[in-house]
Order: sequence, then structure tokens, then C-alpha cells
Amino acid sequence: MNKNDYLRMIPKVDRLLKEEPYQELSGTYGRGFVTELIREELELLRSRILSCGDEENLSAAVEEWLRQIPVRIRDAAGFSLRRVWNATGIILHTNLGRAPLGKCQMEAAIQAMSGYCDLEYDLRTGSRGKRREHYAEIGAKVTGAEAVLAVNNNAAAVTLMLASIAAGKEVLVSRGELIEIGGHFRLPDVMEQSGAILREVGTTNRTRISDYESAITEATGAIMKVHTSNYRIFGFTEDASVEELAELGRKYHLPVLVDLGSGVLVNLEQFGLEYEPTVQETLKKGADLVCFSGDKLMGGPQAGIIAGKQSYIEKMEHHPMMRAIRPDKCTIAVLDATFREYLDENCAVKNLPVLAMLSRTEEELRMQAQKIKTILEKEGFPAIMAVESSINRMGGGSLPNEQIPGIALTLKPVGMSCLEMAEQLRGLPVPVIAHIKNEIIWLEMRTILPEETADFVCCIQKGKVL
Ligand SMILES: *Cc1c(COP(=O)(O)O)cnc(C)c1O
Repeated sequence: MNKNDYLRMIPKVDRLLKEEPYQELSGTYGRGFVTELIREELELLRSRILSCGDEENLSAAVEEWLRQIPVRIRDAAGFSLRRVWNATGIILHTNLGRAPLGKCQMEAAIQAMSGYCDLEYDLRTGSRGKRREHYAEIGAKVTGAEAVLAVNNNAAAVTLMLASIAAGKEVLVSRGELIEIGGHFRLPDVMEQSGAILREVGTTNRTRISDYESAITEATGAIMKVHTSNYRIFGFTEDASVEELAELGRKYHLPVLVDLGSGVLVNLEQFGLEYEPTVQETLKKGADLVCFSGDKLMGGPQAGIIAGKQSYIEKMEHHPMMRAIRPDKCTIAVLDATFREYLDENCAVKNLPVLAMLSRTEEELRMQAQKIKTILEKEGFPAIMAVESSINRMGGGSLPNEQIPGIALTLKPVGMSCLEMAEQLRGLPVPVIAHIKNEIIWLEMRTILPEETADFVCCIQKGKVL
């Protein structure tokens, strides 16, 4: 074939517009918009053909180009931030937005966003109110703290805590807890930004309470414990407990701050996982302030939550930094809704997707995988499929050591490579994000909720917008 043959492969705009999926696209996004984009795409294809060498075989490339036009139209028409299917089995996938929200949480967000709301308005007195009041009481009830304050995220919570309580003073931190979370969150750097001075104590693997005590001087402003969320040190190790630190804090009148990372509010052992210190227990053991993320194990919105002594919380609330890191109305609405679920732990496990996903049994996952397999096989989906055991992860820099048993529907593509099929899955109207391992695509079931199964299959089957 020569260049003219390839040029003849380019269809007429009018003809395309009469066919699917362009008819449907015109109906959805408007004929003018779709016509213009088709024209642009065909023009680009024309220049590509004209600029190629004489010996190049372009048939496949031209066909692929034509196939991609509807995808590009949808891309151009839609919002940038898109819904995706998380088939990775990583529950708190930071790149996929961490905690997905449940129905009640979304309803709260919609209510806050549609029109005006009483964000800083007291409906009883008709005068100015406080943002914090929308979650203060319920947050305190759930965590058992005197008071609760929310900020943009946990990184902000740590910074605010240090800035308002220990600026210009030394903060004692174990050498085994000088974490880097990723995304440029390194504790020593955060501390420097806050104006507090890092005073390292102990060694990487062993830090005793006596190490903290012997480091206390006039310059000491606080003692801080950081949960090593995303790594563990094994072997010859020792660290000081929150109880010990709290006792030391009381003896020297120093506040004890704990960065818990993932805000676990329920006992994780019920899901067959290792015990993780909960917010409630850490406060009970005597920590003055505990901070944690809203969108990790708590299963809520992106937020940093600080729970603890009223006097410190008030100090933080009035710190100038607070204005720059305060949460918006949407976050506050979702946070309130999330705390509400925790009033009854059974509700939290049922209604918060993060916990619901954690609590799913292998049996249930296997049935889901089998169901999808049967439908796709009937449809002639171009892959050899199997239901396999796998390993799921918590993700989001939480529970690094946990191997959560998972079940995957595996796809061995027929007539194309794994990379090609993975690309096609990502190109669906609601893109499917999956892992490739041993030349096989693994669709993990845990992160696709049972009530979403039908939509998921429909999306893969037809490549249709849900
Ligand atoms: C995740 C984490 C942070 C950062 O929290 P973000 O909400 O992502 O800002 C800070 N400290 C610890 C220990 C963490 O695990």
C-alpha cells in the first residue's frame, strides 16, 4: 500500500457522524463539538500519513487511530478527574484517591455543596458560628478526646501541632521513628518548617524511656511518638510505650504528642489483621494529642484530625497557620458523616467502604470473581480466565506487613499482549486499573464492592458509560 491508499482509509466526517458511537456521542456532547473533534483528529491523521516514509506499513496505525477517536472525544468532553475501577486490591491506593466514600458520606457532601450552608453560622442565635462545631462533639464522643480539630491533612496536623506547641523548643523523637511517608513528607523537614527543633533520642532499633528522660533539658518543649506506618523494624528492637511517655511527660510537665498516621478507630483484629493502636486507646494511655489522617483507615475525607486536650486544641485553633490549612465545607460535612457511622461500629464496618472492603471474606470474593468470569466468557471476552488466590494490601502507607488474602479474576489475553489489554482497560469510559504479574492481568475483587459488580461487568462488556 502507498500513501494514497492510506489516505483513502480516512473516512468522511459526515459518514462517521451517522454511525455509532458518534451518534451517541453527538447526542451526549452536541453535534458541533463532536464534528469539530472528528475533523481535528482526521486532519492530524492525514498529516501523519503524509509525513511517513514510503516503505512504512501504516495499516494497523491508521486503524488504531480511528478506533481511538471516540475515546479522545470522551476525554475532551469530560472532567479531568475521572471515576476509575480500582482492581488492584490495594484498598487505600493513594494514587487512586485513598478512601472511597459511602452513600451517607456522599449525601453529606452534596448537601453541603448545593447552595449555602451554616458553615460558620449559628442557626439558634443567628450570629457567627464555628466550623469546628459541626464535628467537635461527635468527634470527641467517638475518639474519647476532650476536643477535636480538623485540618487539611495529617501532614498539616503534625506541622500545626509542632508549630503551636513547640516552636523554638526541642521535641524529642526516637531515631527509630524519623519517618518519610512519601510525597515529600519527612519528619525532620516538617519539624524544621514548624519551627520546632528535632532532638533525636535512642538508636534506630532500640529507644528506651531512659533515653528520652536523659535528653530532657530546659529547652525541651514536647515529646513526640510517631507511628511507623509504612515500615517495621524487626529483630533486636525496643521502643517506649505511650504509657511510659505519658508518665514521663507528666513528671516534667511536657506534652506528649502522637502521630498515629492511619486513624484506626476499630479493632483491626476482627478482620484477621494484626493489632494496630487505635486513637481511643492511645488517648486513654495518656497521650495529650493524637493526630491521624481522615482518608486512611478511618475511611473518611482527606483531612488531618487532632484529638486531645482542650487547652492545646484551642491554642492550635487560634494559631495563624490554622487559616491556611482549615478544611472546607465539603470535608467538614463528610467528616461529620464519617464520625456518625462510628457511633455504632457495625454501621461503620457496613457503610464505610474501606472497612467494608476489609471485612469481605474470601468466599464472597471468589463468588464475585466466578460471576464476572461466567458473564465475560459467555460474551466471548478475548482472554483465558481463571479465579486465583492472591495477596491484597492496605496501601496508603498503612499496615506494611499485612498480606490480606485476596481473590482475583486473572486474564490471559488472546490475540493481544497484556500491556495492550491493560491499556484497553484503562481506555474504557470508566477506566479499569489492574496489575500485571507473570504475563497475566489480575483483576482483584476486594476493591470492587459487591453492589458494583453489575456495573463493573457492564463497563468491561460494552465499553459503555455507566
Ligand atoms: C500518612 C501519614 C502522614 C501524612 O498524612 P496525610 O494525611 O497523607 O498528610 C503523617 N504521618 C504518618 C505517620 C502517616 O502515616
